[in-house]
Amino acid sequence: MTEKKMNVESFNLDHTKVKAPYVRLADIKEGQHGDRIHKYDLRICQPNKEHMDMPALHSLEHLMAEMSRNHTDKVVDISPMGCQTGFYIALINHDDYDDVINIIEQTLNDVLTATEVPACNELQCGWAASHSLEGAQKLAKDLLAKRSEWTEVFA
Ligand SMILES: [Zn+2]
Repeated sequence: MTEKKMNVESFNLDHTKVKAPYVRLADIKEGQHGDRIHKYDLRICQPNKEHMDMPALHSLEHLMAEMSRNHTDKVVDISPMGCQTGFYIALINHDDYDDVINIIEQTLNDVLTATEVPACNELQCGWAASHSLEGAQKLAKDLLAKRSEWTEVFA
């Protein structure tokens, strides 16, 4: 690992020391009026050992983006990591870690019962052919099975 501190928070995280799956508070940004953005690292796959397939990841992104907002109005963004091992979840003015865990759990339970991927068409998505509801549900199922491990980030 480099000694130099980098601009991006996750570039300073030792990815060989973490133990997926986990939910980790990655960053807090405060605006000049006191509003705070909390950014969470939802790691699903063990870095450099496994990764999500693109269609499954993409469908899980659509499903979580749509369904998480049924449980809270604090979600700013849910975005997949380019390494395909997890998602970043940004919330505004919500610093309750345990409740974030609950929101993720409720959202994944919604994913399990979904009968279609929302917005997987060429009008509403940039790669509508790359989706897998079945794949997303397998990811959600596996993640929920390890729910008790989510709060433990390091091995
Ligand atoms: Zn899409």
